[in-house]
Amino acid sequence: MSGKFIKVTCKDCGSESVIYSRATTVIGCSVCGAILTTPSGGKANLVGCTLLEAME
Ligand SMILES: [Zn+2]
Repeated sequence: MSGKFIKVTCKDCGSESVIYSRATTVIGCSVCGAILTTPSGGKANLVGCTLLEAME
């Protein structure tokens, strides 16, 4: 099973990031440092960002 990459925008600063949809670590915004996703049951849980698009 392979996940895919998704493009998200930080809710705090609006910067775009591309992250792995099954990221197993906490991912922070590279600009403002806000937490974007936390791992949840094998997939990334979007806590501080909004999904823009899924990338194939
Ligand atoms: Zn940010």
